[in-house]
Amino acid sequence: MTHLEAAIILAIIAAFSLKLKFLDFKGVIASIAIGYVIIVFGGLNYFAILLAFFIISSIVTRLRVKAVGELYIDKDWIRGWRNVLANGLAPTLAILIPRILSCDERIMAAGYLGAVGTAFADTLATEIGLFYRGKPRLITSLEKVEKGTPGAVSPYGYLGCIIALIILGALAWILGAASPKLALMLIPAGVIGTTIDSLLGAGIQGKYKCRECGRIVENPHHCGQQAQYLSGLTWINTHMVNLISTILGALILAALTALL
Ligand SMILES: [Zn+2]
Repeated sequence: MTHLEAAIILAIIAAFSLKLKFLDFKGVIASIAIGYVIIVFGGLNYFAILLAFFIISSIVTRLRVKAVGELYIDKDWIRGWRNVLANGLAPTLAILIPRILSCDERIMAAGYLGAVGTAFADTLATEIGLFYRGKPRLITSLEKVEKGTPGAVSPYGYLGCIIALIILGALAWILGAASPKLALMLIPAGVIGTTIDSLLGAGIQGKYKCRECGRIVENPHHCGQQAQYLSGLTWINTHMVNLISTILGALILAALTALL
């Protein structure tokens, strides 16, 4: 893959992302930077895996907004550069660091899939979880909470998580980026990564109470105004939680691959 071919592919995808409003302008710029590094240092098959995550997540978000509305998650929160980096930085590092250190290709593939798998599983868990008719439970205390509460889990959420990991593992195997064994090991690694995400969400993530709708939210702004601080660390927002859990997802699958 030449640099020119990579640039042409990214320009076409960037144009579609803007046209379909999957990303805002800064989100597109961040995506191009990430996509470029992954195509050049990883390969087109690695990039296709990340692209599948991005397209499927964007479509599922759109379907969820149609079905249950935007009440719980701010869409501008999803389209911006911060969300792109929160989900894309760990996969990028998972390609770059093994290349710099001249690691085994298997370890690079494992780290990359662990990171993308955790990001995809967590995204689909959140989106499919919003279709759950009952109230989700907080992963730490198991008490029933409102949908959208950081650290809330539900059976639908875990179903979404498993579906995401099966899709991604199968795709990675078809594209020659993963052995059947790695594709299978992706499932427990991704479930652990997503569970860590929920634990961090319930435990240390900053939480706020909206003065307008009264919901406990992860965004300091809700319903068009500043929300009241409730608990957690203010510098640990949902993006920071995603970044930490995708890095851990990468390390877990890389370690499993090195050991087994
Ligand atoms: Zn509100």
